[in-house]
Amino acid sequence: MSIVTQVNLLKDRRTKIIATLGPASSEPEQIRQLIKAGVNVFRQNMSHGDHAYHKETYARVRQIAEELKKPVGILADLCGPKIRTGKFKKDSIELKNNETVIVTTRDVEGKPGLIPSQYASLANDVELGDHILLADGTLELEVDKTEGTEITCTVIYGGKLGNHKGINLPGVNVSAPSLTEKDIADAKLAIELGVDFLALSFVRTAEDINDLRKLMNENGSDARIIAKIEKPEALENASAILDAADGIMVARGDLGVELNPEQVPVAQHQLIDLAREKFKPVIVATQMLESMIEMARPTRAEVTDVAYAVTLGTDAIMLSGETAVGAFPVDAVKMMDKISRQTESYLWSHNKYGAKISDNASTTAIPIWDALANSMAQLAQDLKVRAVVVISQSGMSAATMSSARPAAPVVAITNRADVCRKMAMLWSVIPVHSEDAGKINPNELTRKVIIDEGLALTGEKVLLIRGFHADNAMNIPSVTVLTI
Ligand code: PEP
Repeated sequence: MSIVTQVNLLKDRRTKIIATLGPASSEPEQIRQLIKAGVNVFRQNMSHGDHAYHKETYARVRQIAEELKKPVGILADLCGPKIRTGKFKKDSIELKNNETVIVTTRDVEGKPGLIPSQYASLANDVELGDHILLADGTLELEVDKTEGTEITCTVIYGGKLGNHKGINLPGVNVSAPSLTEKDIADAKLAIELGVDFLALSFVRTAEDINDLRKLMNENGSDARIIAKIEKPEALENASAILDAADGIMVARGDLGVELNPEQVPVAQHQLIDLAREKFKPVIVATQMLESMIEMARPTRAEVTDVAYAVTLGTDAIMLSGETAVGAFPVDAVKMMDKISRQTESYLWSHNKYGAKISDNASTTAIPIWDALANSMAQLAQDLKVRAVVVISQSGMSAATMSSARPAAPVVAITNRADVCRKMAMLWSVIPVHSEDAGKINPNELTRKVIIDEGLALTGEKVLLIRGFHADNAMNIPSVTVLTI
């Protein structure tokens, strides 16, 4: 047997790409190049930038996506009870091993020996001997004494510490509420702007998601909620969190600090399987091409990490610093695109798609649409159809069909531009906005869209699946094998 490393690429990438906006990616021309390179969803990181900045970049993305006629989603990432350093007088300080430093919750600028943090209860939450990890766990302090607003610590692992870097307290019961005052203000801004997704950091229980959902309902938002899984409590409650949320993010930056690093791939694998079983999208995030913040080419280990996430069948892979502050934002997206397409094409040509991921061993039936999606993935493979088409009102049927990972692309037609953008995150889904959806005959609409999108030639087959309703009692599914 010979090893073939160059495979014929599929026309459409299945795994979606999320890029974080920041100083390296906020100018209109940068946003345009990023969309052209393959970004499906932009992430606005509410941990950085003020409301004026987020309003401006939001408007730019919407305008440029409209010009390019691309259904690009926008995800606002709420900080949640994430504890961060404050600002330093000279933007960073150097921590030396064994030196004594003070962490303070006073509202002051930091300087050598003084690390500010806005989390008021920090001194109450930690005790003598606890460890405080800084900057994604690269730096470490040990608590010697707490007194009022001041925590005296010894530096265990030193290095450079910058503005607004993450602080993690492994094993400490953080008392902060799931939605901070800042989150509420940020969520209201995001809702007013009309974002497609709201992600919540440091989710601990399903209640955290319910609180955000309540706020969104009160403010008239139907954005999708993405629960960021980055705490051991969230792993324990993963199933209930997924039931409450619309999708999850494997937020490996903080997860890898709160857990031992070697536990993260195992958590990632299980979270992807769980999300797929529950027919909800999953994002793998953080340090995917980290070295591309400074270098034009990624490390081989990073390339393999991206390929591994794609192989596990994640819906989306995310770039953080690479596009927010990196020197090569567009190259990082192009690299992700190439790795995904190469890996997917290999998997596709080896019949790795279209397989059911769960056997229903229980005595109760699974919901009809979920069962149908699994069967359709099999049918698509058996009939070698060119596409699986759904005509989607809310995007739910597209999400369900996508989760069954059919070998053929999922084409989701809707008459709502907002639904199109929400479907941009889903594995393999090609969102198509058509005013004709719901008006003209579905077979006719399907043929027109398939030909316009160049997805099949005359005589080739597609599957058209209809009749999905969010209320299971009203499901009247039907499947048509259409010859184009
Ligand atoms: C993470 O921790 O992996 C993450 C995505 O969150 P943030 O970038 O907000 O730290």
